[in-house]
Amino acid sequence: MFEVTKLRSKSIDTYSSVVGEETIARIKEKAERLKGKSLVNVNSTAYGGGVAEILHNLIPLTRSLGIDARWFVIEGTDEFFKVTKSFHNALQGNKELKLTEEMKQLYLEINRRNSENFDPSIYDFVVIHDPQPAPLISFYDKRQPWIWRCHIDLSDPNLEFWTFLRQFVEKYDRYIFHMPEYAQSDLDKDRVIIMPPSIDPLSEKNIELKESEILKILEKFDVDPDRPKITQVARFDPWKGVFDVIDVYRKVKEKIPDVQLLLVSAMAHDDPEGWIYFEKVLRKIGEDYDVKILTNLIGVHAKEVNAFQRASDVVLQMSTREGFGLTVSEAMWKEKPIVGRAVGGIKLQVIDGKTGFLIKTVNEAAEKTVYLLKHPEIAKEMGKNAKERVKENFLITRHLERYLDLFNSFIQQ
Ligand code: UDP
Repeated sequence: MFEVTKLRSKSIDTYSSVVGEETIARIKEKAERLKGKSLVNVNSTAYGGGVAEILHNLIPLTRSLGIDARWFVIEGTDEFFKVTKSFHNALQGNKELKLTEEMKQLYLEINRRNSENFDPSIYDFVVIHDPQPAPLISFYDKRQPWIWRCHIDLSDPNLEFWTFLRQFVEKYDRYIFHMPEYAQSDLDKDRVIIMPPSIDPLSEKNIELKESEILKILEKFDVDPDRPKITQVARFDPWKGVFDVIDVYRKVKEKIPDVQLLLVSAMAHDDPEGWIYFEKVLRKIGEDYDVKILTNLIGVHAKEVNAFQRASDVVLQMSTREGFGLTVSEAMWKEKPIVGRAVGGIKLQVIDGKTGFLIKTVNEAAEKTVYLLKHPEIAKEMGKNAKERVKENFLITRHLERYLDLFNSFIQQ
């Protein structure tokens, strides 16, 4: 286990420019009784994917309210992360995977080892993210509220894996899910909390960029600013529908030949499958240079992702399962219409026909994308609605407030 200490500092006051002073005053009031309290988060990667993104933003903001928020990351072997990726895939609905005794033992053993150099007793609240570190709770005498936050689509899990994981989850005082349909019915309903995640409008990923900065980045990565651009930002992962994105693009190209596809992708540290998908995607694209592969391996980081999202005409999210999909809110905040598959968190964010389109098939996605590219005024209108939707529901300030309510609920007891 190691602590993530390199975090940018943030100030809650700067967010009044986005959400207004009244909201900030309310948040400060809710933080009043929590001042001086401490809270620790544990997850399995400091980089890559939505959980790391959220923690990088939420922890500094929580600190700016006088709460001592910390972040630890569990360490494991490649074999361990292969096992936990199987958990991830099985819990998101892969029914073919089998859970062997060996996998269980490795999963528990690595958690046990991580528990040896982590002392939760010094914190007032413990928040454990996702299945990877979920068993940690079994290695301590619990002295404070422990909360399990699930970031994956748990609507239709492989029951063998869920039943095994549930024995740990049940030990927690609260279980947080993004959406009601993820809360399995065999859990104690009184402990279930529904809380969607959020994006940070002032982070490097989402802050306004000057047109000249965007152009510079497009030029650097050989993207033509004057031709239409469709984009998907997603890890190379079986659930992200990357092959479908390429098929959508090919269909769109039949109607709009100068369209470009921006595939923005990153390798997460806890995801051993990334490389396999990376190679498969390259093979599928072949020599079509209008498809741009934009990864962290060639210098695509938060600011570049921001620029590509802002430069896009339409943003796709073809995932077949999606816990939430921060990338959707990120693009919506930048006033982009989304063409997204009607699954998980995408359904929660996109209002069909108002902030983009919810689709099921590649053909539908291509049709809606062509429609938006041919009707820029409608795309613009939807983009504006999209930003409003994020402002109302999925900004970090709202998220922070929901956490404060949760922590306060323990104090009142
Ligand atoms: N991300 C990124 N670069 C990439 C791919 C993803 O910075 O090439 C970020 C993305 O902007 C978002 C997060 O990683 O903030 C992905 O979160 P999401 O909830 O969409 O999916 P997850 O990866 O957690 O399944």
